[in-house]
Amino acid sequence: MPEHRTCWNPEIETMALEDLRAMQTSKLRRQLAYLADRSPFYERKFAESGFDPTAARSIEDLRRLPFTEKQELRDSQIVSPPLGRHAAADLVDVIRVHSSSGTTGRPSYVGITRADSARWTEVISRVYWCEGVRPEDVLIHGFGLGFFVGGLPLKDGIEQVGATFVPIGTGASDRLLSAIEHLGGTVLTCTPSYASYLAEYVRDHFGKEPSELGIRRILLGAEPGGAIPAVRRRIEAAYGAFVTEGLGNADVCPVYAGTCDQRDGNHFLAADQIVLELIDPDSGEVRKWEDGAEGELVATHIERDCVPLVRFRTRDRVVVAVSSCPCGRTGPRIRCVGRTDDMLIVAGVNVWPSAVSDVVGNLHPRTTGAVQILLMAPPPKVEPPLRLQVEYGSEAIDLEALKRELEQVIRDKLVVRAEVELVPPGTLPRFEMKSQPLKHVYDNASAPAG
Ligand SMILES: [Zn+2]
Repeated sequence: MPEHRTCWNPEIETMALEDLRAMQTSKLRRQLAYLADRSPFYERKFAESGFDPTAARSIEDLRRLPFTEKQELRDSQIVSPPLGRHAAADLVDVIRVHSSSGTTGRPSYVGITRADSARWTEVISRVYWCEGVRPEDVLIHGFGLGFFVGGLPLKDGIEQVGATFVPIGTGASDRLLSAIEHLGGTVLTCTPSYASYLAEYVRDHFGKEPSELGIRRILLGAEPGGAIPAVRRRIEAAYGAFVTEGLGNADVCPVYAGTCDQRDGNHFLAADQIVLELIDPDSGEVRKWEDGAEGELVATHIERDCVPLVRFRTRDRVVVAVSSCPCGRTGPRIRCVGRTDDMLIVAGVNVWPSAVSDVVGNLHPRTTGAVQILLMAPPPKVEPPLRLQVEYGSEAIDLEALKRELEQVIRDKLVVRAEVELVPPGTLPRFEMKSQPLKHVYDNASAPAG
């Protein structure tokens, strides 16, 4: 196998932080001036804040500007279709429109110009290279290809890296498996729930172990599962593959952070296009980037023509690490612990569905790892106990003892009282796209649309 460089773009990916800051500051000033000129939405927001964005002297000056909420983008597109009052490019210059997945309500549309597309391609190339994809690889793509930013934009980046891109999409497991076999697939990229689903599918329908497929790497994304240790270990064991994950956001950049082989969080690899802030999600106060700091990610584009955002609240809750990484990349590492929208509050304690999945998955093979949280009232507040349905696994002998043990570990690790109902393997729903660990059982009519 030929030798390759470690980073796709060593100049940016290993740049000293002071140099990065200087570059970000000058790009930020240019971007804010562009917005004041081109985006009625931001022109008004800037005026209301009383801060003249052209006076920005450093990226810290961002704090003087208000946040942008997802709902504002939706409203802006309703008032001023198609791309909204925040869009700063003329439609004639827009070459493609994507949609950010509407988990609740109307989706928002994301337009890109030719230059925006090239910027995405560059960052996606850095991420896929960071995650070990090389020109020799045959990459099987198992994300949705229509509208979703995990489709065509990833194709552009993967092709730029030089790997062989095989577009399968979702809902075509037989086709995907035969493509792996006929084309000699070496890398699979998909959601964690799909990787888990496919592993069971291979065993049930082909009587084979997933490890016989010959996949050497699996790149997960689009939901937090890839960061859940128990989920990752299970996928890794099933396929005998090296598992990493990428982090992105449809409104910001399809994927802007990826795991290097050290696997200590996802390196932020788009510092020349985006400024990330870490904030206290309740007070909105900015937090310092230091090892172990937790908060919500807030993103500002500093090089974007169409639908650029300033201080956009991503709703992603993350833990960060800034200490140096042996791979040489200087971008801080980000680990997503969940979406603010998914967080539950059980008797005042914050509980992430991903943390529940981790606890349940750690008891594999006495559990299958599948779990469903039953919500008896609209979230986020949950009246204890937290009601869970957990699938017992092939090696569960004493179900009563397993139930007690699960309730005890949840109390110890998550500090909440749980009521576990054990159900037979294979009875909980499997999701090919995104996992849906929350089941709204109080009144289906009032539950948010999935
Ligand atoms: Zn690294």
